[in-house]
Amino acid sequence: MQFITSRLAALDRLKKFIEGDISNYNSKRNFDYGVNNRRNVSCLSPYITHRLITEYETTKLVLLKHPFQKVDKFIQEIFWRVYWKGWLEMRPSVWTDFIEDINMIEEDEKYIKAINGETEIECFNDWVNELKNFNYLHNHTRMLFASIWIFTLGLPWQKGAEFFMKHLYDGDAASNTLSWRWVAGLQTRGKHYVAQAWNINKFTNNRYKNMQLNESALPIIDKREYKIKPIKINKSDALNKALILFENDLCIETLNLKNYSEIFCILLSNKKRKIQIDDKVLNYKKKLIEDQVIRHKKIKLIDEKLLEEKLVSVKSFDVIYPSVGENLSYLKNLRKNNDLNLNYITREGDEYCWQFSTKGYFNFKSHIPKIFQKLKLSI
Ligand SMILES: Cc1cc2nc3c(=O)[nH]c(=O)nc-3n(C[C@H](O)[C@H](O)[C@H](O)COP(=O)(O)OP(=O)(O)OC[C@H]3O[C@@H](n4cnc5c(N)ncnc54)[C@H](O)[C@@H]3O)c2cc1C
Repeated sequence: MQFITSRLAALDRLKKFIEGDISNYNSKRNFDYGVNNRRNVSCLSPYITHRLITEYETTKLVLLKHPFQKVDKFIQEIFWRVYWKGWLEMRPSVWTDFIEDINMIEEDEKYIKAINGETEIECFNDWVNELKNFNYLHNHTRMLFASIWIFTLGLPWQKGAEFFMKHLYDGDAASNTLSWRWVAGLQTRGKHYVAQAWNINKFTNNRYKNMQLNESALPIIDKREYKIKPIKINKSDALNKALILFENDLCIETLNLKNYSEIFCILLSNKKRKIQIDDKVLNYKKKLIEDQVIRHKKIKLIDEKLLEEKLVSVKSFDVIYPSVGENLSYLKNLRKNNDLNLNYITREGDEYCWQFSTKGYFNFKSHIPKIFQKLKLSI
């Protein structure tokens, strides 16, 4: 499995999926047939995560070709991502607490064995290697992996979420952190996801048998409560001559860039990241940006060092809102230390959808028809 690095190739992959394998998605998506057979899922997540293609244009292209009823599961999965994003926007301290927790937890021998794929559980060890080699895992496998990590190996969910972020090409602050919390039983309190041997056997197409798992584990308990804070983003239309964007929102095609004299796309190095990502992932991100830079000559790829040098002369920027996670944490810190004026540019789709993330996904899902109408996603 090879992940591509350009928007045009990503759109092409989406087009082929829409014309072919999407028809089997509803019935086959839960099976993990292994790295050489991923046709039952889209494998679009690295592109959607970096917004080489957006959730909204993906949905629109799918609905141009298929009636919603035939592709409902696929569209609902896309909107899981949007839902998680909105959920984290309203409870940003879930992210900052997660980062603080990681720094407090010691990396003991049990943890080292797990991340080296040296446990007693064959499927788990294989998945560790697959994650490191291919930087992707199937959704069902991610759930099973996280469940084994937490309930059979007895490791803290935070270190598992960190391990995923380090190696996934699609690593995303909201989808990853909140999915790990969901498996642990912290998202829907008391409702956890327990991996069972028969389930692994069935959904890996009988590749793994007879594993010893803790199938009667209780959910993880965490007394911290996260109340909803209304989303407040300091935003307006373009105000400044300089624009900043980050690698997790690269879709400039839908923006008007004419008035900007300088555009900087920033790729944070590990020095400025709270979670240290693997060099392979960092390089992958760099390639995605380079492709955008080739087609949009105004954009310069820079790291934090060059940006911080710029701040001596420029104090006001427009910024494509990077959402809660590494990039926003970095920006907040930068603003605090440099007295900057940041004007965020947001996307209509995000602003509209995120307001529905107050409760569970079931509730969010009920707003999908309204979302289609408002964002003109269906005909
Ligand atoms: C523990 C755990 C950690 C995860 N970490 C991430 C992460 O860091 N980044 C990430 O993008 N997804 C994450 N997911 C969600 C999901 O596993 C991946 O999005 C999916 O496997 C990507 O493969 P695909 O593109 O073939 O998905 P498809 O099944 O083809 O789905 C299409 C798209 O919908 C979105 N999507 C699908 N399932 C989910 C889901 N459950 N939650 C949110 N979005 C979804 C993705 O953008 C995906 O590309 C995680 C899930 C779990 C259980």
